[in-house]
Amino acid sequence: MSLLRCVTKLTRAIGTSPQFANQSTGTVPLSACFNFSNLKRNENTHQTFSSSGTLRNASSQPNDRETSENRPHSPRLKSNDFVEESSPRHNPPTSRQKISEATFDGNRSRVVLHVGTERYEFPAVWLRDNCQCERCFHGGSSSRVLNWERFDVDRVKVTRVSLLEGGQSLEVMWSEADGEKDEAHRSVYDLGWLLSRNFKEENTQRYLKEWYRPQPIVWGVEKFGEVLREFSFDDVLRDDAVLRQWIEALIAYGIVMIKGAPLTENECRRLADRVGFIRKTHYGEEFIVKAKEGTSNVAYLSTPLQMHTDLPYYDYKPGCNLLHCLVQSTNPIGGENLIADGFYVAEQLRQFHPDEFRLLSETLVDWSDLGADEAGTFHSIYRAPVICVGRDGRLERINHSVPQRDSHFSVPIDRVEPWYRAMQRFVNILHREAVSFKTTPGDILTFSNVRMVHGRTGYTDTAGNTRHIVGAYLDWDEIYSKLRILKATSERDREQQ
Ligand SMILES: [Zn+2]
Repeated sequence: MSLLRCVTKLTRAIGTSPQFANQSTGTVPLSACFNFSNLKRNENTHQTFSSSGTLRNASSQPNDRETSENRPHSPRLKSNDFVEESSPRHNPPTSRQKISEATFDGNRSRVVLHVGTERYEFPAVWLRDNCQCERCFHGGSSSRVLNWERFDVDRVKVTRVSLLEGGQSLEVMWSEADGEKDEAHRSVYDLGWLLSRNFKEENTQRYLKEWYRPQPIVWGVEKFGEVLREFSFDDVLRDDAVLRQWIEALIAYGIVMIKGAPLTENECRRLADRVGFIRKTHYGEEFIVKAKEGTSNVAYLSTPLQMHTDLPYYDYKPGCNLLHCLVQSTNPIGGENLIADGFYVAEQLRQFHPDEFRLLSETLVDWSDLGADEAGTFHSIYRAPVICVGRDGRLERINHSVPQRDSHFSVPIDRVEPWYRAMQRFVNILHREAVSFKTTPGDILTFSNVRMVHGRTGYTDTAGNTRHIVGAYLDWDEIYSKLRILKATSERDREQQ
């Protein structure tokens, strides 16, 4: 096993294994979920919590800290941003909601509806594209089957709009002939269906937040005690409501602890199967790491693992880490895991060091991994910034791994030194905002690999120590998908009650 491979493997498997004394099962109230007594201060650059739960600032650079007091535009999101129950997709109008008037605005080619005191506009071209008749839409697959080879935006013409079922649906007649028949094409839209897709900004934003991706709630070190939630492994496997709570907490805070998993090597898979399926990488599906005395691995096991994200050299980087602790190091000194919210660190940079934020979000870095494992030999390269920002300005992904940052740095030479300075700032803030803790056997630490940055302090191995960790990945596509299914199912159940 090459040195790089060792680092990679250990980094992935051992880099996070916190320890909690609280072995309670079931969901734990947000305010009471974290056992502060196991939080330890490990280095001068990290903040930790005292046993009373009060914050002790251990930073050696107090002047570098942006407090909430001097934070002019806090990027933080409110905690209720991710748990709203209403659904724009599944909120049919109440029996009182009816279209009182429907007209067609020929100048703007829009259908205008009045519902109560509200006015809604729908572009004719969108209505035609989304006709729900069986010639245009296949209900069984929830798919549009309209023939787009013949679709002509300029020839979409509304000839008549009218109300059906006392205003609970809208009928639109089109100028185009309906296939072979001589009749005009006719579309009927349910009012609830229309309203849930209306183009008002508050509605599109609500849809994106509730059904696309709930917003993360970023947190600094002083908030960790409030954000880390625990769920019972049995409850997550058995109860859909708890499964949903775990996923929602994972989306919101980026890290969640699962407690009480059996001490066998198959539990990450059982957890992953509850959501979707394990994301395979060139290291396989599950990775098992046991500390072995007297091997070349031991030196690496004992040394600190720098904070990092896993597998930044993947275009489709595995989204979420599952790390199951079967046996923890018996040595009470060292071996704590470090973890920080990379999104929070990025927001700190964006707000207080915008030039450095720009450098880290605009400079493509070469990430790479070269080696061999169970899936054969590999040479992976992917170029991406340390801070990946979406078109909407939101943070999408953090990449940081010292061992896997390539010596090839494919940027203009003048960019090099400023980038290093910006990176130094990023790492300083990262360590300032990192928490440390250890897992106990039966814990499965779950955290976002596109958001959280994790590592491990050094420790001294002892005789008979058989630290044993099993890890696996899940992809966010599957996690979000499962959340939508759970939401839709619970809403259906509620409507049927
Ligand atoms: Zn149609």
